[in-house]
Amino acid sequence: MIIKSNPDEIQNYLTDASNYSGKCEAVYIPESEQEIVEIVSRCNADKTKITVAGNGTGLTGGRVPEGGIVLSTEKLNKILEINSNDKYAVVQPSVLLNEFQEEVESRNLFYPPDPTERNCYIGGTVATNASGARTFKYGPTRSYVLGLKIVLPDGRKLRIERGQFIADGSHAIIPTEDGSIISFELPNYEMPATKNAAGYYCKEKMDMIDLFIGSEGTLGIITEIKLKLIDLPKNILSCIIFFNSQEDALDFVEEAVRLSRYTDDSIISARGLELFDKFTLKFLRSDYSNIPENAEAAVWFEQEIDGNEDELISEWMELISKHNGMEEDSWIANDRKEMDKFKDFRHAIALKVNDYMSQRGLKKVGTDVAVPFESFKGFYFDTIKLVCEAGLNYVVYGHAGDSHIHLNMLPDNAEQYNKAIETYRQICSNAVKLKGTVSAEHGIGKLKREYFKLMYNDDVIKKMALIKLAFDTNRILNIGNIFDEKYLT
Ligand SMILES: Cc1cc2nc3c(=O)[nH]c(=O)nc-3n(C[C@H](O)[C@H](O)[C@H](O)COP(=O)(O)OP(=O)(O)OC[C@H]3O[C@@H](n4cnc5c(N)ncnc54)[C@H](O)[C@@H]3O)c2cc1C
Repeated sequence: MIIKSNPDEIQNYLTDASNYSGKCEAVYIPESEQEIVEIVSRCNADKTKITVAGNGTGLTGGRVPEGGIVLSTEKLNKILEINSNDKYAVVQPSVLLNEFQEEVESRNLFYPPDPTERNCYIGGTVATNASGARTFKYGPTRSYVLGLKIVLPDGRKLRIERGQFIADGSHAIIPTEDGSIISFELPNYEMPATKNAAGYYCKEKMDMIDLFIGSEGTLGIITEIKLKLIDLPKNILSCIIFFNSQEDALDFVEEAVRLSRYTDDSIISARGLELFDKFTLKFLRSDYSNIPENAEAAVWFEQEIDGNEDELISEWMELISKHNGMEEDSWIANDRKEMDKFKDFRHAIALKVNDYMSQRGLKKVGTDVAVPFESFKGFYFDTIKLVCEAGLNYVVYGHAGDSHIHLNMLPDNAEQYNKAIETYRQICSNAVKLKGTVSAEHGIGKLKREYFKLMYNDDVIKKMALIKLAFDTNRILNIGNIFDEKYLT
């Protein structure tokens, strides 16, 4: 095991991609599950707080310590098994998502979850129930987790497979490896029907593995993950279509969603539908001079081709033309290399925004809200109006197919930053009123706790805190994620 306490050596562990930073006494880097058990048992005995670190690409301060020690899983980074016959893989938590996907694809298999930032650990994606463009067709990380090994905050170990422990109504019973039982009542609260990564997944008769997925490291440290794989789709249609108006782009997305999800006899079936607004295109133009001058919006879509390719392309072209897409100026990927370039284009904007904010020493003010499909367009334009009225610069991009946008405000100084925070709160509140979520994929971490309270009242949050206490009686693990420590009394 490596232990670092020199300030220069631990600097990198004190922050994540949100620019929020914290402090800790030391960073522990165990090399086995047994070493994790030892660290955790010691910390539990003397009540030292532990913050679990993945690869630090999180956007909510989830892995940022506010004291105690950091436990980095970085040495547990092996792919343990890829089973091509039964289509599953077993990995340690710190396998890099992009390396895992490349390995799996080299065997003609496919692991769909694709957060835009693929330089993250699989453990981090399970802890936050990460999503990406392909979630539109394939669902979030949760849909691919078949089994987990977890070290609990008191050092006990848990192994849980999908389908193994189902709640008896609202009564949850989870046996640990040493034969002891953890039991508690599942609170009865409504989760948004949208894509969602806010708070514990809880409902009657639930599969108890789902409680751990998206629990942001508050219930235990994930030490091994069994993942479902599917067959690798062979041919993909991947296009970036530019539009002269934002309205046209949104209408195009809306109809593509209807055809993909709600129309049985349509051959249009997108696997991702991503939006870029005019300010995003402006922001990207310095790196991509081929973005058409008069483009006011763009949509990147992908579809797997499993039938007649010409017929499929002509259906999409018809839809593009119906919504006034700039057919001549749009980009169609001819091969895998070009498809990857489109992915880079999507990734570039997220990175540029993060750079912009860190150059100004400000934390990111980017929404992760999602609303129900039927409310999306109205919500989108109301949100833009709100930001314009506040006099703030912004860019909007993201997973429009899932009615999920990242509107990033771009304040230049402290005064604008405060205005952006106020506006951010209003946007979250509007999303919640529409039965949406304040976090569709990044999680709550430490930075979105106040907005989480717009979704659930104190009584509900206290009930969630009781779940954590059932696992973490001494209140040591990932304290401050999802809810404030004050709820853990
Ligand atoms: C440019 C950019 C684009 C992004 N795009 C997306 C996107 O499209 N979709 C999306 O979902 N996210 C996105 N993200 C956010 C981020 O990539 C994901 O949240 C990712 O899942 C975090 O993984 P990580 O290994 O970096 O985790 P970290 O940031 O290190 O940690 C995240 C949380 O998981 C906990 N954790 C990590 N490992 C474990 C473990 N083994 N056991 C228990 N808890 C653990 C940490 O304590 C923390 O609370 C983006 C980030 C960036 C910078």
